[in-house]
Amino acid sequence: MVGLVKEHRGPGAILKEIPVPTCGPDEVLVRIKATSLCGTDLHIYNWDKWAKKTVVTPIVFGHEFAGIVEAIGDRVTGVQLGEHVSAEGHIACGTCKACRTGNAHVCPHSKSFGITAPGCFAEFAIVKASNIIRNDPELPFELACLQDPLGNAVQAVLSGEIVGKSVAVIGAGPIGLLSVMVAKACGAGTIYAVDVNPYRLQMARRLGADLTINAAETRTSDALLSLTEGEGIDVILEMSGNPQAIADGFKSAARAGRVSLLGIPTKEVTLDLTEQVIFKGLRVEGITGRKMYQTWYQMKGLINQKRIDLSQIVTHKFNLTQYQEAFRLMEQGECGKIVFIH
Ligand code: NAD
Ligand code: ZN
Repeated sequence: MVGLVKEHRGPGAILKEIPVPTCGPDEVLVRIKATSLCGTDLHIYNWDKWAKKTVVTPIVFGHEFAGIVEAIGDRVTGVQLGEHVSAEGHIACGTCKACRTGNAHVCPHSKSFGITAPGCFAEFAIVKASNIIRNDPELPFELACLQDPLGNAVQAVLSGEIVGKSVAVIGAGPIGLLSVMVAKACGAGTIYAVDVNPYRLQMARRLGADLTINAAETRTSDALLSLTEGEGIDVILEMSGNPQAIADGFKSAARAGRVSLLGIPTKEVTLDLTEQVIFKGLRVEGITGRKMYQTWYQMKGLINQKRIDLSQIVTHKFNLTQYQEAFRLMEQGECGKIVFIH
């Protein structure tokens, strides 16, 4: 089969012929029909500091996919040949304290599909059977593959009260844009979207943001505080990872509000904890991955009942052979989600 392989520990990747993997007793072989590009894939492609210390090579990377079950291991139950599937990418250990207390999404021993274990930018992929998510056969593959990032958004938006609350999504990248859609679908009050990229702000508007702020033109905290007459925003969803934007997010949070942090800071962030967190009575939380598997069931409800239309976030479709063009486009940022049709 053909797969996109990170072969050398340096920038780039190569599309090459590799053997079709065979599944172990507890694994499933999936024929991949569609995948999507994540910021993590760009980190792997460009080979930044994080990739250097994390990624196991050589590896077929990519972790957002939808496909069809082609083969199952001897011990697998509950997954049938021909079913349409996606999967949770965190392969948790199942026995540590986090896993045994319902917090497998923060398992310290987890392996990551497409990062430390072989992934899906190929014709076939191996998935642990217990991580399989069965998709509605009516759901197009090119949308079903988006559940991984949608899950980040769903976990962030729904980890606290949202109905009628003012919400600021800081960083309108793919996950921020999905968060705008989820917040809207779930009955949020005024939704503000903040970014430095006009293309993304325009998309945010189209996907349901009521007001957009260009952080390259105005200070985010000044704008959000003035728009709310100094009261601040009930729910801050930090999805940029930009240190200044993170600090501005805390400044913009209303008293007794919530700050959910998903963006990964590019360097250390300095905060006035006394004024910006403690005396404000803020609830601050880290968001990682998707809750296993509560988030997946919440997504299923939203998708199956058409509360959100995932087709709105897909701006480009490519063949896997066009990977260089796809990564270039992603780097430049004039895109929503980029999908590979396999
Ligand atoms: P992305 O990098 O495409 O999105 C970030 C957006 O923030 C971009 O649109 C960018 O223009 C914008 N931005 C940059 N500086 C800004 C500023 N000063 N103010 C406002 N916006 C600014 O990536 P994404 O895939 O949407 O992911 C968002 C973040 O979440 C990234 O930091 C990513 O690494 C992280 N992430 C975290 C998890 C997790 O489990 N915690 C999972 C996936 C991604
Ligand atoms: Zn564990």
